[in-house]
Amino acid sequence: MGIDQDAVGRIAALISAAQRIVVLTGAGMSTESGIPDFRGPQGIWTKDPDAEKMADIRYYLADADIRGRAWRHRLESGMWSAEPNAGHRALAELERRGDLHTLITQNVDGLHQAAGNAPERVVEIHGTVHEVKCMGCGARSPMAPTLARVEAGEDDPACEACGGILKSATISFGENLVPEDLRRSQDAAASADLFLALGSSLTVYPAAALPELAVGAGAALVVINAEHTPFDPLADVVARDSLGDVLTAVVQAL
Ligand code: NAD
Repeated sequence: MGIDQDAVGRIAALISAAQRIVVLTGAGMSTESGIPDFRGPQGIWTKDPDAEKMADIRYYLADADIRGRAWRHRLESGMWSAEPNAGHRALAELERRGDLHTLITQNVDGLHQAAGNAPERVVEIHGTVHEVKCMGCGARSPMAPTLARVEAGEDDPACEACGGILKSATISFGENLVPEDLRRSQDAAASADLFLALGSSLTVYPAAALPELAVGAGAALVVINAEHTPFDPLADVVARDSLGDVLTAVVQAL
């Protein structure tokens, strides 16, 4: 079945007319790179609701078994070998054309930067898996050496500086966002003339409030997501086809 060409044409027209495009991406952006989302039909939590505990700071801090499970999960994650897909490449092309103001991502996989988006334009609002943070002293370090300790047999590696609990430098449920990242995202959304919400179920706050903020400040809204989102009724254009296909077609139509 072909993609919705009418939606592609209307999205391309909105992009051509826009001067400050702000993009928000969610886990659906990276499923075509082989990284499963959480809440889609093939999502990690859809298939194993107990897995949600690994992403909840209260369980993580309280339970060494959950931490051990989380570290094994990180070790086996497909994120380390994943590569940007056609959708990521289309967004990098949008930046090269000069209209992309800010790319806010809920993803922690670093694939937008790998595709060529400038790191200073990307706000990783939920952090990154490529670093480790100590929940005790706050020290941050690259992920690879800690993963090597897990591979060598440590179930729950402790901070080498203070003995504290280590975790990937992502924002778990129950943790606050980094205030500066939230402020940058809100400022960008409020100043956008076009807001693209891509591959996010738009149910995780405060990131999910950004489309509404943009629309309230006068931006046009495009939602591209395989499933319905709560913000579809606010959108100027909604497309449900795969992100890689839609974004490739949109960039070709510009
Ligand atoms: P989500 O799992 O809640 O929703 C993803 C949405 O994308 C679903 O509605 C799904 O139908 C849609 N989708 C999946 N593949 C698609 C495709 N190819 N084309 C179009 N739509 C597609 O994701 P979320 O709202 O981003 O929330 C989950 C949180 O978990 C995120 O905020 C993120 O922090 C984290 N997470 C990150 C990654 C990653 O970094 N790649 C992966 C899983 C979860």
